[in-house]
Amino acid sequence: MEITGTSTKRHRVVIIGSGFGGLFAAKELKDANVDVTMISRTSHHLFQPLLYQVATGILSEGEIAPATREVLRKQKNLDVLLGDVHAIDLAARTVTSRALDTTRVTPYDSLIVAAGASTSYFGNDHYALDAPGLKTVDDALELRGRILGAFEMANLATDPVEVERLMTFVVVGAGPTGVEMAGQIAELARTTLRRDFRRIDTTQARVLLLDGQSGVLTSFGPKVSAQAAKQLDRLGIEVWLNTLVTSVDERGLDVKDTSGRVDRIDANVVVWAAGVRASKLAAKIADQAGVQVDRAGRIPVNPDVTVPGHPEAFVVGDMMSLDKLPGVSQVAMQQGRYAAKTIKHRLTRRAPLPPFQYFDKGSMATISRFSAVGDIGPLRFGGLRFAGFVAWLLWLGVHIFYLVGFKNRVTTLLHWMVTFLGRGRGQRTVTHQQAIGRAALSHLETPYLGIPQRPASVPVETAPEPVPVR
Ligand SMILES: Cc1cc2nc3c(=O)[nH]c(=O)nc-3n(C[C@H](O)[C@H](O)[C@H](O)COP(=O)(O)OP(=O)(O)OC[C@H]3O[C@@H](n4cnc5c(N)ncnc54)[C@H](O)[C@@H]3O)c2cc1C
Repeated sequence: MEITGTSTKRHRVVIIGSGFGGLFAAKELKDANVDVTMISRTSHHLFQPLLYQVATGILSEGEIAPATREVLRKQKNLDVLLGDVHAIDLAARTVTSRALDTTRVTPYDSLIVAAGASTSYFGNDHYALDAPGLKTVDDALELRGRILGAFEMANLATDPVEVERLMTFVVVGAGPTGVEMAGQIAELARTTLRRDFRRIDTTQARVLLLDGQSGVLTSFGPKVSAQAAKQLDRLGIEVWLNTLVTSVDERGLDVKDTSGRVDRIDANVVVWAAGVRASKLAAKIADQAGVQVDRAGRIPVNPDVTVPGHPEAFVVGDMMSLDKLPGVSQVAMQQGRYAAKTIKHRLTRRAPLPPFQYFDKGSMATISRFSAVGDIGPLRFGGLRFAGFVAWLLWLGVHIFYLVGFKNRVTTLLHWMVTFLGRGRGQRTVTHQQAIGRAALSHLETPYLGIPQRPASVPVETAPEPVPVR
């Protein structure tokens, strides 16, 4: 079925994506004399920075992913449509999206593309089968199923070697997501679960954090990086630096260090927090605009975040490259708002806005309860670096402030009290479907949700022979 958008006399703005960039652009257009259509492949707005807390049973998915149409329900000039955008025609000014068997062509006068990024396996997409990333609610719920399921299976296993494998958790990538994920798996094992099992001692779980670079949280600078390393050590997390993953399979992974030494790590859960790649829409737009995407698949944009040669099309957030800006939520929010303001200025014939200027409010990461690291304010203007309890309190405040919806803020605070003061976790429910979803999707004839097909020719038995772990 194909539907073509209805014609209207008002200026039509189409926003692709309901993440940070899309949501802030939409809100900025609230009182503008325009018709806004937001098209997104998910019906929720996802607060990605807290995904790891869903994956480790602290928060529910609803708390960090409210329904977009509920968030924007008071915005009378806006229509929210579910749809996976697979084509953008810059010349015809149309966007084509699909939801199940319904294809829709939506015309626009102005376009804001904020489709974000997905997990990158650096050309080894088949790793996705056994090492889920952490980008979507699906990823977080599957990881929760795999992590909690690993302890259940260890409790049933009789072979001590298998118990050890089942209780080995590997996180690849020591950036903020990897550090937070490793910290929370360690806390789950050492505190939350420690009295719940009779046959296994969950405090003996091994948590490994691997990275190809020579430090953890390197983007925060050497001082914060060293503080974070100490905190990880206190949690009993093994940090393997200068280590590259060479293969991943259902029973673990192989890694290589800078000396060329190869190690096998037998593990049941591998979390991939090592890289991101811009939405494929960036390359589709770049092709039409005659520009090249960068190594991360991002499209270079003009200083006013428009596509070269197309002043009516804006690309914001994780999909674009401009002035080496980082892929963080503040960039997406500020650019989304800026693109919407530019559209309003043009319609009211006001003087054009100056080029987009990013205001860096700093960055933070929390490693365990009562402990975080971060910097506040632009470092080039002498921003402040924090670590420990004060940083953790700031982290709490900032995340509650930016979480969308009053109800979500209240329930999140309650769940944090349960976890951080009481050490319990309210969201330990897992379903079989969540845990086996990825495996089931890998058997589809056509790849779906970016999950590749498992090659029939590589059964588990052919996994490389284990070599001793250092
Ligand atoms: C685990 C994790 C932790 C993070 N922690 C932090 C942090 O602590 N601080 C920080 O500042 N940043 C953090 N980030 C980064 C931050 O979340 C991103 O920079 C930000 O979300 C980018 O916003 P965006 O609007 O560009 O994309 P997103 O927020 O990813 O939104 C993309 C939207 O586009 C939709 N979409 C994608 N493809 C299509 C398509 N083809 N058709 C239709 N819709 C589509 C998606 O469904 C989604 O709604 C984190 C990211 C992750 C994954």
